Amino acid sequence: MPLSKNQEIKLHIDGISSEGTGVGRFDGQAVFVSGAAEGDELLVHIIKAKKTYAVGKIKEILKPSNDRIPVDCPYFKQCGGCVYRHISYEAEKRIKTQKVKDAFLRIAHIDVPVREIITANTERYRNKAEYPVGRDLNGVNIGFYANRTHRIVDAEDCLLQPEEFAEIVEIIRKWIFINHVSVWNSESCDGLLRHIYIRKGFLSGEIMVCLVINGENIPKEDEIISEISKVSGVKSIVLNINTKNTNVILGDEVKVLWGSGKISDTLCGVEIELSPLSFYQINHDCAEALYKKAAEYAALSGTETVIDLYCGAGTIGFSMAHKAKKVIGVEIIPEAIQDAKKNAKRNGAENAEFYCMDAGEAVKMLRDKNIQPDIVLLDPPRKGCSKEVLSCVAEMNPERIVYISCDVSTQSRDCAILKDLGYKTQEVTPVDMFPRTAHVESVALMTRE
Ligand code: SAH
Repeated sequence: MPLSKNQEIKLHIDGISSEGTGVGRFDGQAVFVSGAAEGDELLVHIIKAKKTYAVGKIKEILKPSNDRIPVDCPYFKQCGGCVYRHISYEAEKRIKTQKVKDAFLRIAHIDVPVREIITANTERYRNKAEYPVGRDLNGVNIGFYANRTHRIVDAEDCLLQPEEFAEIVEIIRKWIFINHVSVWNSESCDGLLRHIYIRKGFLSGEIMVCLVINGENIPKEDEIISEISKVSGVKSIVLNINTKNTNVILGDEVKVLWGSGKISDTLCGVEIELSPLSFYQINHDCAEALYKKAAEYAALSGTETVIDLYCGAGTIGFSMAHKAKKVIGVEIIPEAIQDAKKNAKRNGAENAEFYCMDAGEAVKMLRDKNIQPDIVLLDPPRKGCSKEVLSCVAEMNPERIVYISCDVSTQSRDCAILKDLGYKTQEVTPVDMFPRTAHVESVALMTRE
């Protein structure tokens, strides 16, 4: 008998899905329960019943899993950010390592050695926050999206963000209240303030505050600048203009209100300057560990040509430039390429050159120019690389490909494509860039067969 809605069942949780949800089996049918831990014995209330699977809610924990720990965040149940605050970090590492193994086995059909997960700091590690701003019947909400929705959970603090971020949000909250600043309504597409976007350089301590607005100006600009600039570390205050009806957070235009409009930081000994639109790895210490692993996989001796595809502000390439003959960076966001060029100068990386292009166009251009890379670094966004990018990379015949990814399902898919193009995945190392969330970074070494 398949399960039906509102049924109550006893369930043993014997696995965790790639999204961090507990999974048990009832008469052969998979039942997904969020907030469950591997090994839990639960009384579960079925809230959704489909032919092949069901979704349940915990009614009672009959016997807790050994992985369980007390939850330390009051927003954990509602917020869509963390999924692993109820289990130990040891358990989280085990689950994430398994997630990487499973993806390679199930998606790519590659049985690859998965090395020990690399970890760094696990609390207040994020150097960037994007707080959505909205309103409901209770007033203005600034915080985080609830799981799988666009409902905003109002939150005073987040254990993944630096403490100063909460202080800045509080200042903005008061400014909204006192000046009756309108906030974004995604249904009617009106209201001024859409997001508060804050970034911090962890080694420099420098903070940039960006108000994302549906408009050109903000009321009482001097007052808000005066208050925010008093917070320790704040170096830049900017506006980002986004008047489009879209879920994309940032628009293309940035207006500097106060300071240089940039922040600096140091990553792997390389000094970098970042503008608001340039990508920067979220977790400083873990990014350093990731780049170190990538460099080990690249195994440079000083004579190699390296292509750094999807290079952002050029940080991975710079961390290896002193060991290579030449580094060629490719990135689609113009501001990121401007940052990369300045950062190259600043660090005396004269052997680095950059192209502001789509990765697919760039690899064709480089192939046609007869560039012969020894190493190609791939670090695409979540959707992974296109087939054209992969086949063009393979045509350039590099000895090694080092593939970094924040989504192991697309990474393993691409590794399977590269396998058919003559590249063997030698090993993969998971990197816990996003502790307490369901996401995991991974870096794979591929060599030409
Ligand atoms: N390697 C960098 C950035 C990785 S994030 C670092 O470690 O910091 C992925 C980057 O790919 C982003 O900077 C994004 O702007 C860029 N990107 C996205 N689509 C692209 C495309 N089609 N072509 C080139 N770059 C792209």
